[in-house]
Amino acid sequence: MINQKQIALNKLNDRIRNCSNCRLSLTKQNIICGEGNLNARLMLIALSPGEHEDKECKMFIGPSGKILDKLFHIAAISRDSVYMTNLVKCKLPKNRKPKQDEIKACSLFLDEEIAILSAKIIVPLGYYAARYILKKYASDPPLARTDYRKLYGRLILLNEKKIFPLPHPATLLYNPSYTEETAIKYHKLQILSHDCKWYLMCPMKYYFEYGRLEKKWIELYCKGDWEDCVRYQKEEKGDYHPDWMLPDGSIDESLRFFFNRLNFEKNSGIN
Ligand code: SF4
Repeated sequence: MINQKQIALNKLNDRIRNCSNCRLSLTKQNIICGEGNLNARLMLIALSPGEHEDKECKMFIGPSGKILDKLFHIAAISRDSVYMTNLVKCKLPKNRKPKQDEIKACSLFLDEEIAILSAKIIVPLGYYAARYILKKYASDPPLARTDYRKLYGRLILLNEKKIFPLPHPATLLYNPSYTEETAIKYHKLQILSHDCKWYLMCPMKYYFEYGRLEKKWIELYCKGDWEDCVRYQKEEKGDYHPDWMLPDGSIDESLRFFFNRLNFEKNSGIN
């Protein structure tokens, strides 16, 4: 059965395929629409189709696609489990940089795609996609290109939206020496694909539900990069950690007080 998301996306894709809003429509062979799992938790956004993609009308099938497949394989992620799209839907001639007016014309489609998909985590690949997404959600997006590189592999929470910028796989075509560090960053896609296995029994869940803990802790760790959580790491090693230790390893005394009060009430039958 076709669901509402699919219907909305089909309508959007029809408009995209008939687009002539910028000069790139004159030089492309095909316009490449997004593809993948419409209910995916992760939405990957690359810059634009390359030569192979333009010819065969499919995403990531050229040399960058082969690298992406390798990175997915290392991360134990399948293409079917994510949704992938481009900031600019037509090929850029000779792989030149996109012009501002081209990004402006085409990103209107991307904005609609993001709204339709409502994926939990947006994963911009490379500088142009990361810059667009951060400008869209951040009040003070970085200015310098080098500042974007520093964000690769870091989960960011902006206005309720989780963003996880990654280097574009094409980077490894020119700099194969970055393969290992890039693979480590892509490995996080596997982590971000599901919640922490301890979440249902973790005291952080209860503190949050009792209104004692900010949502950011849950989003950034328990339903985000739980591998980075100090509580998770200690749990895995069987190391002691107090119930009022936060995911970053700091101690919150107000949680200790709340925890002791809850226990007291439970033991004395007040609840
Ligand atoms: S606080 Fe850490 S251990 Fe607990 S559910 Fe969240 S990520 Fe897992």
